Amino acid sequence: MHHITVYCGASHGRRPAHRQAAAEFGSALAEAGLGLVYGGASTGLMGAVADAALAGGGTVTGVIPEDLVRHEVAHQGLNRLEVVHGMHERKARMVELGDAFVAMPGGFGTADEIFEVLTWAQLGLHGKPCALLDTDGFFQPLLAFLRHAADEGFVHRRYLDNIIVSDSPREILSSFAGHRALPHLFAGV
Ligand code: AMP
Repeated sequence: MHHITVYCGASHGRRPAHRQAAAEFGSALAEAGLGLVYGGASTGLMGAVADAALAGGGTVTGVIPEDLVRHEVAHQGLNRLEVVHGMHERKARMVELGDAFVAMPGGFGTADEIFEVLTWAQLGLHGKPCALLDTDGFFQPLLAFLRHAADEGFVHRRYLDNIIVSDSPREILSSFAGHRALPHLFAGV
């Protein structure tokens, strides 16, 4: 495992705990010698995780669409900034570069990104671990919805149970070693 792709808010959110957790995650990555891959912005939790990883001596790669560069949200201090043509290319590249995926608190963008990698995992398009950094129980309402979707027969419980959920950056990083990719939905069909 070399690179972790992080999805998180382009905003800071209301609670200082979220900014602090993003910074802790960035520091934990640097300490573990793992490179950060993220959306390349300087704002919100995105900027906080990147700044902390850089401050800890870590390596940070940003992948950002050219439109957002024009809006001057790109982080100028990264080890590498890949400028791509659009959001689809960005997401594909972030999936390619990361050996595991972590969502931190965020909004539509974060939800879009983590749901895509969760969907791709159950289709067997990748076998990489997916985790939620559950600071202050941020993801509990989402997990409650997903349990409801499983109870209603729309989500297979095994894929839900395979999502790593923790409020501890170090626990998330150490859980990656024991991760097992599940057979995909259509395996053996
Ligand atoms: P959100 O959770 O809605 O704040 O969106 C953040 C996620 O979507 C990040 O992981 C980015 O990859 C992408 N994204 C959405 N909006 C922005 C933005 N203004 N600047 C950079 N990335 C963004």
